[in-house]
Amino acid sequence: MDKIEECIIKLKSAGSKRILLQLPDGLKPKVFDIFNRFAKEFNVIVSSDAFYGACDVGNVESYANVDFIVQFGHSEIPNIKYPRPMMFIEYPYDTRIKIPYEQLSLLRTKGYKTIGVLFSVQYRDQAIQLLDILKEESFDAILGKQDERLKYPGQVLGCNFSSAHSISLKADAFIVVSTGMFHAIGVQLATDKEVYIFDVNSMKLTSIKEEVDLFLRKRYAKISRALDARKICVVVDTKIGQYREKLADKIIEQAKELGLETVKVEANDVKPTDMENIMCDAVVFTGCPRVPIDDAGKFKMPVLTPPEFQQLFGLKKAGKYVMDEIVSVDELHLNLSSDKIGGS
Ligand code: SF4
Repeated sequence: MDKIEECIIKLKSAGSKRILLQLPDGLKPKVFDIFNRFAKEFNVIVSSDAFYGACDVGNVESYANVDFIVQFGHSEIPNIKYPRPMMFIEYPYDTRIKIPYEQLSLLRTKGYKTIGVLFSVQYRDQAIQLLDILKEESFDAILGKQDERLKYPGQVLGCNFSSAHSISLKADAFIVVSTGMFHAIGVQLATDKEVYIFDVNSMKLTSIKEEVDLFLRKRYAKISRALDARKICVVVDTKIGQYREKLADKIIEQAKELGLETVKVEANDVKPTDMENIMCDAVVFTGCPRVPIDDAGKFKMPVLTPPEFQQLFGLKKAGKYVMDEIVSVDELHLNLSSDKIGGS
């Protein structure tokens, strides 16, 4: 029985009638197949929006009339109060890993004994395989305990490295099983330990030290442009798992104490043109911590994470770059669990 079949059985036993399917862009080419399988049993509607994480279930209009949401490609974020019953169908990468001997000797020559293994969720199977290989090779391979924003020990999100923090004193080094660099850079900055990325396609272990140096150079060049800013736009993202209005209020308070003009803005997908229309000198973005970094090139003005703002203006100790992480989210002021939206 595959995961879709299992999901259909659960939905039937829950008495679901109308369901909403959400897929990240990478899985959209499979949408006909997926839709048809669910549509045999239920009234199904597919969201065309791009879902980058389980922090996002779309606008209230899209789920107001469904009794279940099925999201593909992500794992549940346990501390989010979802507005509808949800099922998450993870899409694990399907390959068996092997690590050439010389890759492991890289770790041995550095004298590393205790290795923390971390992964983004689609590579969880490969991370477990890696854990076993390391143990067979006499390393003390460990998975860190996660906080309530992550489902699995050892898991990392671009907004949460708690599985790394929890073992950062114990581990001599970390291996992150992932394809993109973001998670590995985040782990390195969050722990100060040497971090390697393990690429499941090339089966290669690579130190990310150079990438981290490059990242910091680019980031400091970008954020230092905000030093002369007088008008600051503080953005709250309305996605359910990114909504941090209390943090935005704190930033506004701090900015006012510094004599800066501020405006609090909410947005679902923050757009460069909207920020240009507002004519602010800099943006502090309290939503997904990846946005100020991954989308930096799209904005004319500097877009800072909250810790970057605090560090730049002397509100945090200088010297060590602090990655923004989401630990908890504020409850949305909307009554998201109501069955009806709008007036009667
Ligand atoms: S906030 Fe960003 S990094 Fe975190 S789960 Fe959402 S999309 Fe992923």
